[in-house]
Amino acid sequence: MSHNKIAHKVQNLQSSAIRELLKHSKMEGVISLGGGIPNPDLFDREGLEMAMEKVLSSTWKDAFQYGLSEGSPELRGEICQLLSGRGIRCGIDEVVVTSGSQQSLDILARALINPGDIVVVERPTYLAALQVLQLAEANLMSVGTDGEGMIVDELEALVKTTPIKAVYIVPTFGNPGGVTLAEPRRKQLVELAQRYDFVIIEDDPYGEINFTDKTFTPLKAWAAEMGCSDNVIYTSTFSKILAPGARVGWLVLPDWVKRQVVILKQATDLHTSTLSQSLTYHYLTTGRLTGQIALIRDAYKHKCEILCQAVESELGEHLTFHKPMGGMFLWAKFKYEMNTTEWLKKTLNNGVVYVPGEFFYCNEPDHATLRMSYVSVTDENLKEAVLRLKASL
Ligand code: PMP
Repeated sequence: MSHNKIAHKVQNLQSSAIRELLKHSKMEGVISLGGGIPNPDLFDREGLEMAMEKVLSSTWKDAFQYGLSEGSPELRGEICQLLSGRGIRCGIDEVVVTSGSQQSLDILARALINPGDIVVVERPTYLAALQVLQLAEANLMSVGTDGEGMIVDELEALVKTTPIKAVYIVPTFGNPGGVTLAEPRRKQLVELAQRYDFVIIEDDPYGEINFTDKTFTPLKAWAAEMGCSDNVIYTSTFSKILAPGARVGWLVLPDWVKRQVVILKQATDLHTSTLSQSLTYHYLTTGRLTGQIALIRDAYKHKCEILCQAVESELGEHLTFHKPMGGMFLWAKFKYEMNTTEWLKKTLNNGVVYVPGEFFYCNEPDHATLRMSYVSVTDENLKEAVLRLKASL
């Protein structure tokens, strides 16, 4: 059999650069600022054990049986409560449980995009969203970001002349940029969606990992206030606040797209694992999530502080960055011309890896950028990693 038996659109599919990199990060002595994985030392073993016991003791047969494609009503009820704490008011009929936000994005891409439809993303943006959008044969365009997130004026100039189908955005504590869309820009973005009739896909895995006292209103909540809820589709996940291995996320959907999404979900995997949903539901009823989020937030904030300080003091003359207000990533850029993909070979020799920035662009990559994840590295190793980066210059 030859390669050309493979469908055209997947023939040139590349494995995620980050997943390739993770191979190096497992090498003896290498400090990895690469993968965006939550710190497993913070997983709530006790809480998960309590939840698992409840799974097995209560309506346990349901946890091992097929379920609804929309997801379990009990879990969707808990999700609605969680969302009200984020300022999003919705009923369980608007919520569809997915096998993680990644699946939400895949299903949305299939539900919304015809080949050639223009989808606008941030520059830089989440790599796996690019993969999904490219597979759906979207025509990708990008607008720049600064310390206040997407430069919405740039988007405005674009949509005045070009009809677009959707904007994909991670507005709060973004991956990879680590930046957060400022409140006036949130309003401006939703207004644009309303005026120019496009869909906003709001991807919010990190919103709860907030290092500040400020609250950031989800675009979905702004849209409700501005009477255009139909324009925003929201997705989030338990991956960063509970456990990514459970593979439980969700979508909040306007009526006009809900039915098609449920049918696509059915066609994809029938439904998200009932066992995982049941575990997540029972975990939520233990009431431990709030404490767990606080624990994660404090730990990540501390690590972010250490990495930012080390980068500032050791690499301040070489790199600029916006200090993250939350989330898992520090994005930095060389002050001079540099190719971070090339540089990685040197840093790997010195025992440290990061993700070169070029992978996070759909076009015109900025080769002088890099993403560093701080959450799963010890304090000492964060400092040591920065020293190794310095030694690689
Ligand atoms: N969106 C963004 C921005 C992410 O960073 C991630 C995880 N890396 C996901 C979606 C997917 O998360 P999951 O499928 O585990 O919910």
